Amino acid sequence: MNWITKFIKPKIKSLLKKRSASNDKTALWTTCECKNLIYKDELFNNLNVCPNCGSHHKLTCEERFKIFFDNRIEYTILETPMPPDNPLQFPNYEEKLKKARKKTKQPDAVLIADGKLNGMRVTVGAQNFNFIGGAVGAASGEAFIYAVQHAINNKTPFIFFSASGGQKMQEGAIALMQMTRTVLAVNEFKKHNLPYIVVMTNPTSGGVTASFASLGDVTMAEKGAIVAFAGARVIKDTVKEELPINFQRSEWILDHGGLDLVVERKYLRSTIAKLLQILLKKKESEAISSLDVKSFEEDLQPARKKQII
Ligand SMILES: [Zn+2]
Repeated sequence: MNWITKFIKPKIKSLLKKRSASNDKTALWTTCECKNLIYKDELFNNLNVCPNCGSHHKLTCEERFKIFFDNRIEYTILETPMPPDNPLQFPNYEEKLKKARKKTKQPDAVLIADGKLNGMRVTVGAQNFNFIGGAVGAASGEAFIYAVQHAINNKTPFIFFSASGGQKMQEGAIALMQMTRTVLAVNEFKKHNLPYIVVMTNPTSGGVTASFASLGDVTMAEKGAIVAFAGARVIKDTVKEELPINFQRSEWILDHGGLDLVVERKYLRSTIAKLLQILLKKKESEAISSLDVKSFEEDLQPARKKQII
């Protein structure tokens, strides 16, 4: 026992300490899945994409807005309704929320902004995975619905960047209800003939994939993002089979018809701006024939086309 307490335990403790130091916000360096050390400024200047392996690192809502809107500043964060914090009196939930708010400096996982993309006014929502895994509860549901209403009132397209583990277990049925509420909001939005574009970022799973994130007029994902309902481990244990390499990665989902596009982060702005231009033109002008619209849709859905063939 002695050698365990004397050598092994201190070794494990020092390794854990090193790991937490790499997550330290004041540290200048961070690590990547390719095991390289990256200077944080260099990473952010590269849109939080690893310059060595191209891995797309997670972004906070503010970082997402900064790299998406014109000149990195042309946006305003909207104040969304905040329902009561702990409706079911779930133990320790309030402390968890307090910590998440302190860590992320935002009131909930979802932030909504109104701003300009290539001079075009747009409403944009984003989820912060660092806020309790981006889990959806009443506050996120309210924020999403508020954004939809804002987009309808101001006749703007709505773009949503999803990143979530699913619904909040601490809010039980109230969290599950947000799936229905957000789907109804998207349906209402579509009646106004305005474009709704979803960008699934790493990871998007559970009730978010099963509700508003899968309902975009165009549903795209960032390169290498995990897009799933249940996790790979749960599926593997259930079906008792080896899963394909790349299972639930955005490229795999695209090949199987679950997405319209997989886009590198550096091309997101230009891709979405172009799509909006075409979609809005389609709405405003009778001049585009149905044939043009069809070929545009075909261009966008290579995976679906493949599946039909
Ligand atoms: Zn890397």
